[in-house]
Amino acid sequence: MVRTIRNIYCVGRNYGLHAAELGNDVPDEPMIFLKPTHALAPLDGGELILPGGRGELHYETELVIRIGRDYASGAQVDELADGMALGIDFTLRDVQSVIKKKGQPWLPAKGFLNSAPLSPFRPFPGLAALKAQEFVLKKNGAEAQRGNVNDMIFDLQTIVDYIARHYGLGAGDIIYTGTPAGVAPVSDGDLLELFWGGERFGCAVIRLNK
Ligand code: MG
Repeated sequence: MVRTIRNIYCVGRNYGLHAAELGNDVPDEPMIFLKPTHALAPLDGGELILPGGRGELHYETELVIRIGRDYASGAQVDELADGMALGIDFTLRDVQSVIKKKGQPWLPAKGFLNSAPLSPFRPFPGLAALKAQEFVLKKNGAEAQRGNVNDMIFDLQTIVDYIARHYGLGAGDIIYTGTPAGVAPVSDGDLLELFWGGERFGCAVIRLNK
């Protein structure tokens, strides 16, 4: 079982309704970006310190898979993945809008400290089980996002094959697989809770620093 996280891959615009809500075109190949490992933080019920005063800070709830062995051509997701978790790809949306216009890298909008909080990993349940359940974000007790891997533009097999071919994929890498519709800003004091199949995987209280 892998314990150390190596690369943090993320998939952008992988749900059609989310791409549409931000006015983005649906990509014709997977849009992959990285976060530093310093972006990781536990969704363990404690406070999550995030940047305040930099415009809107959006949650993006995502299914996260962990790779348990080095990729070999033809390997199936069910053989490669050894864990699943729920995470949030926090995004400074106003910062992102500016750097998108300038054609600059996404790091300032996506890679800041604590921008990749994660629930504990569970054993990977298999693709069939993933398709049978939905993941849900509740903000202050009200449902804010609901997603199912069936709605992905690029399915998990396509994503792992694409990442492996272009960037490499090995034991300890994790993949944030994209967010469904419903992204919105957080405020100081918000309680975020993440569920899969009705079971709470993790939660945190948002603290925006000054
Ligand atoms: Mg995302």
